[in-house]
Amino acid sequence: MNRKQSTDSYEQLLYEVPAEGVARITLNRPDKRNAQGVVMTYELDAAFKRACMDDNVRVIILAASGVDFCSGHDLSFSEIDREDEFPPIGLWSQTKKPGWEWGVAREKEIYLDITQRWRDAPKPTIAAVQGRCIAGGVMLAFACDLIVAAENAKFRDHTVEMGVCGAEFFNHPFELGIRKAKEWLFTSDWLDAREAYERGMANHVVEHSELESFTLDLAKRIAQKPLFALRMTKLAMNAAQDAMGRQDAQNTAFALHQLCHAQNMLVHGFSVDPSSMHPKVRESVEALMDLRREAETRQS
Ligand code: ZN
Repeated sequence: MNRKQSTDSYEQLLYEVPAEGVARITLNRPDKRNAQGVVMTYELDAAFKRACMDDNVRVIILAASGVDFCSGHDLSFSEIDREDEFPPIGLWSQTKKPGWEWGVAREKEIYLDITQRWRDAPKPTIAAVQGRCIAGGVMLAFACDLIVAAENAKFRDHTVEMGVCGAEFFNHPFELGIRKAKEWLFTSDWLDAREAYERGMANHVVEHSELESFTLDLAKRIAQKPLFALRMTKLAMNAAQDAMGRQDAQNTAFALHQLCHAQNMLVHGFSVDPSSMHPKVRESVEALMDLRREAETRQS
């Protein structure tokens, strides 16, 4: 059994029941601006599963401690040696395959399928977002049913800058409309809370000091409704979005995303274009690629 699923404590999350019927999962790695590495990813999955399996929980809040909601996927790869602690939730994730085959399998496991699984959690979920919410962080917010944004929240998916066509969980056109989503990705610009609200991506914008109480009140109101009706409403809404082509668009976008990574590998020797990287991040990615190449050499 996954070690993390057998315990109630987490290294990088807080799990609380702040009101009857409401579970709150808080990203709790503020010194890294809640960067999502392998530990947080599998702890999040365990926490979502815990909330979904608990009959006393009807609504799940996803919040974050510290200044920022989430700075995205942890590109420092500082937890790379801990991958074996967390068995895959799916049937992919064959990390020893050559070329970019390992990358496709790993990204499908830890970025696409696991985020899709949270999006399909059979209880309403609400993201409470403050500060910066970047790329992988945007995926986390997109996976939730409702988004409450603090006035200082701002969203950015700068994957194009890194040589990739949008984050792995590709909900952008369904959140913002096609034209704004294109502009947002083409420019890697920030989208502030007010514009996210006006375009229908965020449900509410509130004072930062009221983010926690407002989100909890909203969750409490929803938690008073019959759970089965909430589940069916969520399924119906998600089915409506999928009938609009979300799943097909997601599949295409993920395939193109992997094409971008493979192209970057061929041209730069990295899965992303290193020219836009912070030198420290570049060092981490270089070290990871060296490890992969060494492993491939040993196998051949
Ligand atoms: Zn990727």
